[in-house]
Amino acid sequence: MIEFNIPPYVGKEMDYVREAAEVNRKICGDGPFTKRCHAWLEERFGANKALLTTSGSSALDMSAILAEIKPGDEVILPSFTFSSTATAFANVGATLVFVDVRPDTMNIDETLIEPAITDKTRAIIPVHYAGVSCEMDTIMAIAQEHGLLVCEDAAQGVMSTYKGRALGTIGDFGCYSFHETKNYSMGEGGAICIRDEKLGERAEIIREKGTDRSRFLRGQVDKYTWVDLGSSFLPSDMNAAYLWAQLEMADEINEDRLATWHAYNDAFADLAARERIVTPTIPAECTHNAHMYYLKCRDLADRTAFIAHMKERGVGCVFHYIPLHSAPAGLKFGRFHGKDVYTTADSDRLVRLPMYYGVTLEDRATVIESALEYFEQNA
Ligand SMILES: *Cc1c(COP(=O)(O)O)cnc(C)c1O
Repeated sequence: MIEFNIPPYVGKEMDYVREAAEVNRKICGDGPFTKRCHAWLEERFGANKALLTTSGSSALDMSAILAEIKPGDEVILPSFTFSSTATAFANVGATLVFVDVRPDTMNIDETLIEPAITDKTRAIIPVHYAGVSCEMDTIMAIAQEHGLLVCEDAAQGVMSTYKGRALGTIGDFGCYSFHETKNYSMGEGGAICIRDEKLGERAEIIREKGTDRSRFLRGQVDKYTWVDLGSSFLPSDMNAAYLWAQLEMADEINEDRLATWHAYNDAFADLAARERIVTPTIPAECTHNAHMYYLKCRDLADRTAFIAHMKERGVGCVFHYIPLHSAPAGLKFGRFHGKDVYTTADSDRLVRLPMYYGVTLEDRATVIESALEYFEQNA
């Protein structure tokens, strides 16, 4: 069986976890490995401030608190995304205003944002689907004109860029995920990037249960106390140690995934040219991280048959995202603004092929041959 996903593992993870436990004797949050990860994220991505969190979801939770979203405020986001994008803002009482995606990237259609703005709108949440950037110049310009915050859900976008800038560092906040299904992993984990230096200090407080413990540890205050909202959003240093092994190998992991992505994309180019399927579009101003390789079949029936065919050949393919606006919580906490032209129709026909660090050449060939066989039999 060729799995759809295998969590990344480079080999040094357990050595570093052991080092945290036996050498550093520091396993709670903000130990030496966490600090290394922070410095790496800040240097590599040019982030003003990067903080590890317990998940991508908790990074989004932190950004909703930092944005001071209040009950009744509105946030604009795509419906075609993972539930956490929405939950973080629903948790603080926001009304979710979903808009349609662009069919080429499956990202929020930037031309539909402005018509959805009301006097209650406070933030825009672009999701960089498959690690391919949203049209950030347009989104940032709309935000500036209307005085809105931008919180990038860059859970899938670690190591991707837009016009040379790392995803997650363009908006006011950027949220990464290091879940085992993502390109770099610590089991469960994530990070938040904060652009405004002044908010960086508040982020440290929110992440440390609402206390100024980080300032205390730096010797900036002589005792620490409860000063703000927050929770325990910081991961154990053992998890950071695990992640550190993969950040050290970030380029190797990225190149390996891209090689698989390009092998798929080359193999399916003819079918795409003949319009039997649709393959992903990478806009010229974007570099991506091969988080995902997907195809769009003709419709739901075609996709169901494709997945069954691949399964018979021992290849795990999956689909995802029941559009949030039609999910029970989406109906309760949000509304769809404008027409749903692509969100539902394209989520019904999109299928993801096996993609992880270390897909072997043999497995790549099996995936490609099995898929080509299906489309030959179902021309
Ligand atoms: C994975 C993911 C998340 C949540 O990340 P976790 O680390 O699993 O909490 C949020 N948004 C998107 C788009 C994701 O893909």
